[in-house]
Amino acid sequence: MSVLTLVENWEGEFKKTSYETVSYGRKMAHKMDAALIVLTFGSKNPGDLVRYGADSILNIENLNCETTSNMDIARISSDLIKDKNIKNIIISNTNFGKSIAPLIASMLNTPLISNAVSHPTQYSPLIIKCKAFSGKAYVEYESNQNINIIAILPNSIGNIKEDKGKGEMINLQKKLDQLNKKIEIKSRNKSNEKISLTEAEIVVSAGRGLKNGDNWGMIEELAETLGAATACSKPVSDMGWRPHSEHVGQTGIAINPQLYIAIGISGAIQHLAGVSGSKNIVVINTDPEAPFFKAANYGIIGDAFTVVPLLINAIQKHNN
Ligand code: FAD
Repeated sequence: MSVLTLVENWEGEFKKTSYETVSYGRKMAHKMDAALIVLTFGSKNPGDLVRYGADSILNIENLNCETTSNMDIARISSDLIKDKNIKNIIISNTNFGKSIAPLIASMLNTPLISNAVSHPTQYSPLIIKCKAFSGKAYVEYESNQNINIIAILPNSIGNIKEDKGKGEMINLQKKLDQLNKKIEIKSRNKSNEKISLTEAEIVVSAGRGLKNGDNWGMIEELAETLGAATACSKPVSDMGWRPHSEHVGQTGIAINPQLYIAIGISGAIQHLAGVSGSKNIVVINTDPEAPFFKAANYGIIGDAFTVVPLLINAIQKHNN
């Protein structure tokens, strides 16, 4: 019996979520007295996963995560799951995971438990706490099925633990099913974010209170000073002040950083839906009645154009 983690990489390099899912799978494998198999596509350093607990690593070396269609990745994964007596499959709830996990679930006719924010509280039947209703509530899912797919929310499980696995390395070649080709990737636009928004420990975010896209210099400087990723509210990306890849909220990306700094954002429910998993929230807003203050751990009532430069100055002094 085995647990399988399907890990994502970008141009062959693993992401923080890759280690997170392997670490999660390791703990689950220990609890179930099972082996942990890790499946990866076109990874440059598959051996890195051993530190986090991989007993065997199947690297499909002739394919990769960027250009292989979701359908092909799901089909190859499902075939392996059937072959290897896999009980639970772990995947990250990133865009990659969200597009592949439901396909595998449908191919195997098995439950998909998505938005998991904790390790199972029970293994038979399987019970896992998850986020629901765009982050407005938590729910416990119970499954008594033999095979389950668990999609974990990035940054929500706590520290990634090193726990060495056996580390057997298997390189495989897989043929694509050309006859079944329904989707073809024609082009790719690479986001130019320096730090991945879903993986960032700190996120500096700004809204319409900044008045204009030209005013983002201080937001970027604050983010750089803190080693943070940048985000924005929906109207900001709708108006083209910032790229859509930075839009957080119900219709944007959901994030769970250690620290979320919201500057000139009112705190509408649709925005909060994507950021309420943040462990600490700091709000900077001129309006003391702004709804965001109700969700904040710390609030600064003040003008962003005065407060943010003071904050940058204070942090830089502290760092020196
Ligand atoms: P505003 O509501 O205009 O707020 C600006 C804030 O800045 C105010 O609180 C103001 O007091 C403050 N301010 C002004 N000047 C300053 C200053 N100089 N210094 C400091 N503070 C200042 N929104 C999202 O963000 N994400 C989503 O995913 C999302 N999905 C949606 C889905 C649906 C179906 C709908 C209907 C709406 C959605 N929205 C979403 C929009 C959401 O309802 C709000 O309209 C939006 O979040 C408001 O953005 P904002 O806070 O930047 O702007």
